Amino acid sequence: MDFLPTFLPTGIQLSYLTASALFIIGLKQLGSPATARKGNLLAAIGMLIAIVATLLDRAVLNYEMVLLGIAIGSAIGAIMAQRVEMTAMPQMVGLLNGFGGAASALVAVGEFWKVIHGTAAIPVDETITIILSVLIGGITFTGSLLAFVKLQGLITGAPITFPLQQPFNITLLAGFLAGSAYLVVNPKETSVFLALVGISLVLGVLFVLPIGGADTPVVISLLNSFSGLAASAAGFVLMNNMLIISGALVGASGIILTEIMCKAMNRSITNVLFSAFGSGKKVEGGAAGSTQDKMLKTIDPEEGAMMLGYAKSVVIVPGYGMAVAQAQHAVRELADQLERLGVDVKYAIHPVAGRMPGHMNVLLAEANVPYPQLYDMDDINPEFDRTDVALVIGANDVVNPAARSDAGSPIYGMPILEVDRAQHTIVIKRGMSNGFAGVENELFYKDKTMMLFGGAKDMVAQLVSSVKEL
Ligand code: NDP
Repeated sequence: MDFLPTFLPTGIQLSYLTASALFIIGLKQLGSPATARKGNLLAAIGMLIAIVATLLDRAVLNYEMVLLGIAIGSAIGAIMAQRVEMTAMPQMVGLLNGFGGAASALVAVGEFWKVIHGTAAIPVDETITIILSVLIGGITFTGSLLAFVKLQGLITGAPITFPLQQPFNITLLAGFLAGSAYLVVNPKETSVFLALVGISLVLGVLFVLPIGGADTPVVISLLNSFSGLAASAAGFVLMNNMLIISGALVGASGIILTEIMCKAMNRSITNVLFSAFGSGKKVEGGAAGSTQDKMLKTIDPEEGAMMLGYAKSVVIVPGYGMAVAQAQHAVRELADQLERLGVDVKYAIHPVAGRMPGHMNVLLAEANVPYPQLYDMDDINPEFDRTDVALVIGANDVVNPAARSDAGSPIYGMPILEVDRAQHTIVIKRGMSNGFAGVENELFYKDKTMMLFGGAKDMVAQLVSSVKEL
């Protein structure tokens, strides 16, 4: 066993390299529904290797505490994962980001503790990494907790603003910079360090406060990126390559996801962060605004079933309402019944349908809908001209033609699923409520559109039983 002390550091670094490679391959495979499960497994194996390697590191002082932490954390995580509703995933991710940020900030606090109790001179780069870790970790912690509280409906989801908010934020940030400069010169100044911790925590709250509950999922993705950066910063504090690499991966993927979400909503990140959009106010959509004198056509489930059962091709467009109603299993059953009658069934997936990226893919996968039947927006849009019936289930904004035609609409320019090009469109929703963006939807008043009013699960179940009788 004499070789162990010399081999161990190299072995640990090699394990970290293997784990990093598994993370990267896993992330790549998560990009397609067909390989996502395998990718998840590979990344989990990578994480196991990373944890075991870290535990073998002789820098670990107390295994009992580590094991106790793993046991408590795993138990809480398992219970939360079992209980969380799919529609509550954004706030769950938000909460986990927050804990990640808190962990990074605590690492920095621990390291500072060591610094002030040591006798050696403190290198400037170490103080800077500690400060960065506190700043990013602190903002991520309180920002994510506030995002969680907003999405969970514990406080108003609307943007919260107050007079002179931006100057106040800038003053705080300036205070943080000044305190940081002071600490770099006097690294053992505990009161300044504690002030920096306090300012970071307050900045996190102020960052998320003016963001509307409806935009909060985008901010959660951004905070996810921050939590990665915080982990990376903690990695520099501890000189741990694994933390640096995995933090960078989370940071980069979070930013890419934020960009994808903003693009799919035709918004810029600055617009999401600073425009107080999604305040829940009803927004009239320019030309589409005046709908009072327009006629709606309604149908009942029996009529809907006839239209669907006698169609050659049906494209199902799921949205947030399907997720809320948990109608995915009924939808799968409807598709099965239609296929039994020889109907060609496809699903059209908008990148921001629902309330989190991949929301519809996850739900439909849960109902065992075959992956090849799922079509991305760009692939399905050219097909609508040849589609007999587009069946919109609890979707609203992602099918709103105002995005294409009404320059005055807040969603103008957002790419949509062009269901209005189909021969007929059936829309299932409970009433005439607007979608997330708060704009009215001209689609509902079009000649070829028929409204099937009711909860998604109930309506689809009624369609299924009527189609069965055809
Ligand atoms: P929307 O939020 O636009 O509309 C959902 C519709 O579902 C509502 O109009 C509602 O109408 C209906 N509905 C609600 N509950 C039920 C139910 N139980 N049964 C039937 N219908 C129901 O959803 P979309 O999926 O079309 O669009 C998503 C929106 O969310 C986009 O604006 C997107 O930008 C935004 N967003 C998406 C994110 C993502 O990553 N996916 C992240 C952040 C924002 P009614 O009450 O009348 O039934």
